[in-house]
Amino acid sequence: MSAHEAILAKLPEAFEKAQASGDLLFFPSTVHKHQENGVEFEIRLCPALQNKPRLPTPDFSADAPAVEEKEKKKSDPFAPPYVPNLYLGEVRDPEEGDEYVILFNKYSVQPHHILMVTKEFQSQTSPLMPPDLVQAYLFLVAARKAGRKFFAFYNCGDLSGASQPHKHLQLIPVEDAGPPIEQLARGVRLEQEDRPFALSSVPYANHVRRLPSSLPTTAPSALEPILTDAFLSLLDLAISTVRRDGTYPPGPPSYNVVLTLEHMHVVPRRRETHTLAGTGEELSVNALGFAGMLLVKSEREMEAVTGEGVGVILRGVGLESVHEEQVSEHEAGDAKLA
Ligand code: AMP
Repeated sequence: MSAHEAILAKLPEAFEKAQASGDLLFFPSTVHKHQENGVEFEIRLCPALQNKPRLPTPDFSADAPAVEEKEKKKSDPFAPPYVPNLYLGEVRDPEEGDEYVILFNKYSVQPHHILMVTKEFQSQTSPLMPPDLVQAYLFLVAARKAGRKFFAFYNCGDLSGASQPHKHLQLIPVEDAGPPIEQLARGVRLEQEDRPFALSSVPYANHVRRLPSSLPTTAPSALEPILTDAFLSLLDLAISTVRRDGTYPPGPPSYNVVLTLEHMHVVPRRRETHTLAGTGEELSVNALGFAGMLLVKSEREMEAVTGEGVGVILRGVGLESVHEEQVSEHEAGDAKLA
């Protein structure tokens, strides 16, 4: 059994134990379906979250003074010593030697929500590296072997909805069809399977790559070039989208990544929160929102979200799509090369 399989196999028992001990706080919720833009969005209503203290967005800046750096490390929940009931094990990338610690999300809205944190501190503003992609994908493969479905996501940068500055990818279980946005991606007919595409029915910039259908059964050692090439092509496009927005704030770009067995999605971000027209309150959006899964804390917030429209909210925290211009530029580049 691989380390990934062993970690997933212990989730049910370990989750019960972590919750019973009080080290893991579970917030029950109900899921409401909401049709829009050809997507069946899931809006999760979780009133218990009103009692969870909202963490301020951390200072992601790389040039913070050394003293603050020390303070940050002291308050880093993803650094050792780990809470034994939240600690699930470790995985190591055999090619690059990178190590990851797997922890339960301490504040769980979804049972079995796990975090893959870098063992050495790395910044949440840094892009996904080849071993990050491979190790996350291996969890998705291990889940499939166990008859379960998970997807991975990454909130990169201070406008992405991340709340911790220590690099962490996240994995959550999902129903068989996958996250709502995946159903839209799956329906897109592609002339060239290995070219980036965009979901044109949603009103925000998004960049997607279809992964080869053989990838889940590909040897782990052969995953790296395929996942890395997909990510770099999407990151290039996300940066090109950001550059076309003359008002984008300075600093490294923020974006969300959603990874399933079949697709990789990268969505550039312009803002962390959207001010809801119906309540005047801020709604924080992270990669889960762009996977098609939003989280609200009250009926009132639910009404504000459905009344305003999920598309409007996601466009509010994302960017305008410039996919058509990018395609024409790419084709002009190809013609020049020919
Ligand atoms: P993000 O907010 O996307 O950066 O993800 C970080 C996640 O870490 C959040 O979902 C928090 O619930 C979770 N979290 C915060 N503190 C801890 C902790 N001490 N142990 C485990 N998970 C934590």
